Amino acid sequence: MKISLIGTGMVGATLAYRLFISGLPSELVLVDLDKKRAKAEADELRHSLSLEDNVRIVDGDYSKIKDSDFVVISAGAPQKTGETRLDLIETNAKIISEISKKVAEFAPKSIIIVATNPMDVMTFVALKSSGFPKNRVIGTGTVLDSSRFKYYLSEFLEANPKDIFAFVLGEHGDSQVGIFSHISIKGIPLENFCTELGKCLSQNDKEIISRKTKDSAYSIIEGKGSTYYAIASCVLKIIKSVWRDEGTILPISSYLEGEYGFEGVCLSVPAVLTRDGIQKVLDFDLDPAEHKKLESSYNIVKEYCKNL
Ligand code: NAD
Repeated sequence: MKISLIGTGMVGATLAYRLFISGLPSELVLVDLDKKRAKAEADELRHSLSLEDNVRIVDGDYSKIKDSDFVVISAGAPQKTGETRLDLIETNAKIISEISKKVAEFAPKSIIIVATNPMDVMTFVALKSSGFPKNRVIGTGTVLDSSRFKYYLSEFLEANPKDIFAFVLGEHGDSQVGIFSHISIKGIPLENFCTELGKCLSQNDKEIISRKTKDSAYSIIEGKGSTYYAIASCVLKIIKSVWRDEGTILPISSYLEGEYGFEGVCLSVPAVLTRDGIQKVLDFDLDPAEHKKLESSYNIVKEYCKNL
């Protein structure tokens, strides 16, 4: 499998290392506007080749991404302390549009995965600029937010985060919605878990968990400048799900055409991932209050997509 990474900053470089040690790709291509940086990252990976499984590590220009199975875009300006993801829109839309056109030219059969923020809007830009069918343009979505959500739920419930089934949907940003109406722990609905173990979530607990989930990126950025480990795990999970034709359901960002009553935007809702990329977007019943919040999130993202 050949994976190309466009952008070898903190997210791209961390992902490169994660992919390198995963044993999944046979070839990794590192491309960045800053060619010296991409080469330096590639060189460091090459220096481990006598110790790790063999992966062809390439750096250079877009001609190198030819025949890629996946192209992951994390190029762009990162969030700075105090900035929201939506503050990055103008700068990054231009970058993502240029990159997506290059991907369409040099790797027309690839699947594009977009991590750059504001991710939902950038996924929309990548879809439009590449001209790819919608199944082959995947935003990392709220896979990261959902993982954070599961972690904070697990802390409260004293459960293993892996046993928790829960989603954050909507914008990967401030208007995201933690879905409490469909939580289960290893198949046991949250309400039964509450009766059984006495771990019941009050409205206040739900608000705290939602706020921690939403604000965690801000506190990490304040603490160490940027976030990159968990997003690398998310991209690896998406690539594995597609490459292995798993049929895994993940809340990735995809182009919506009427699901949940939303259309003309890329937004995170659960979707089935197979070898074709996005095989199906799942349109399941939400609690009306949660649907209303999701609608507000959709309206925010829609407004930004409309103004591009
Ligand atoms: P970074 O500044 O460390 O790296 C960005 C890289 O992009 C730099 O190396 C820069 O040279 C490169 N770049 C800029 N313009 C380019 C172009 N036209 N072509 C090729 N490369 C170009 O930033 P980072 O911390 O790696 O974050 C990257 C993006 O990922 C940001 O937008 C950030 O907000 C986002 N992010 C998203 C998630 C998510 O859940 N989707 C999580 C973390 C970070």
